[in-house]
Amino acid sequence: MTDRQQLLQDIKPLSFDGVNPDKPLVIAGPCSAESESQVLDTAKSLAKNGIKIFRAGIWKPRTKPGGFEGVGIKGLLWLQEVKKETGMLTATEVANHEHVVAALDSGVDILWIGARTSANPFAMQEIADALKGHNDVTVLVKNPVNPDIELWIGAMLRIYNAGVRRIGAIHRGFSTYGKHLFRNEPQWHIPIELHRRIPNLPILCDPSHMGGKRELIGPISQQALDMGFNGLIIESHCNPDCALSDAKQQVTPDSLNLIINTLVLRQTKQSTENLALLRQRIDECDNELLEVLSRRMAIAREIGQYKKEHNMQVVQAQRYSTMMSQRHNQAEELGMSGDFIETVMQAVHEESVRQQIRVINSNAL
Ligand code: PEP
Ligand code: MN
Repeated sequence: MTDRQQLLQDIKPLSFDGVNPDKPLVIAGPCSAESESQVLDTAKSLAKNGIKIFRAGIWKPRTKPGGFEGVGIKGLLWLQEVKKETGMLTATEVANHEHVVAALDSGVDILWIGARTSANPFAMQEIADALKGHNDVTVLVKNPVNPDIELWIGAMLRIYNAGVRRIGAIHRGFSTYGKHLFRNEPQWHIPIELHRRIPNLPILCDPSHMGGKRELIGPISQQALDMGFNGLIIESHCNPDCALSDAKQQVTPDSLNLIINTLVLRQTKQSTENLALLRQRIDECDNELLEVLSRRMAIAREIGQYKKEHNMQVVQAQRYSTMMSQRHNQAEELGMSGDFIETVMQAVHEESVRQQIRVINSNAL
């Protein structure tokens, strides 16, 4: 069976008792569990604001040694406390066999796999093996640090092959060299392609790790929802500036509440009749474009024939640059970007040249 068929068959939606299935799923909580009071304060404020699923990292994968590497298993007791006091479901990151066993034994509801771990097939297989027999757990797999969709799908397949069906993906962006606006580049086409290949796989967005800064959480979340993502996982800390990890990207529960309440949920179930009419007009325009292009290519072939008979070169640089600057100016007059039209014309010209060369090299006169 192919990857697509296997994953397509019976992945279950991310539904949880007490969580409204018609709204995007929101998971929130600190990057790291730091102390019992930090965990409980944050959880209680989040719960008061209607958040139903609490996240906190217990084991933290750090880029360099010497950073805060998490509180370890004692944090699991704090998560149990969160559950008892707020009724929230809990989620934590696992990266090896030991983590999975400890988290499941202590009743964590959702396990997530971090970007450094999903990039490592050995670690993924170890986690998958530890999950065998625990078919009811929910496992969310972050994209690997590098933009490799096959590696991401492969990581999820290992979990699937262990018998887990409650699987989701988390898009948190991809590492790049140097400083950029985003801490991790979104490369939205990758989750879009993931959705195309596995339409029933729930995909959440992690705007905290993608943006790396508080101001970007709102805009990234909105973009993800506009693109049809199923939910968000957002870092929230009762005292973000003092957080032991990822301080710049964490927000207080109240700021998070504001961000979430400002998000616009587009109606997907609304009638799309008017949209269908507009799309029909777009189809008509595209048909005309294709016909015009095909007429243009027919003329290009005639030119090829002429050049062949007169033993002329296919590309004439002067003609090419005059045409490009004319099209650039015409496009701007018509309200389009001249650079955009140059890109289009380059592609059209390339195809024209290809067709002319074919004519010139054919035996028929
Ligand atoms: C996290 O969620 O705290 C985390 C470590 O994320 P990522 O694996 O996306 O870097
Ligand atoms: Mn973090």
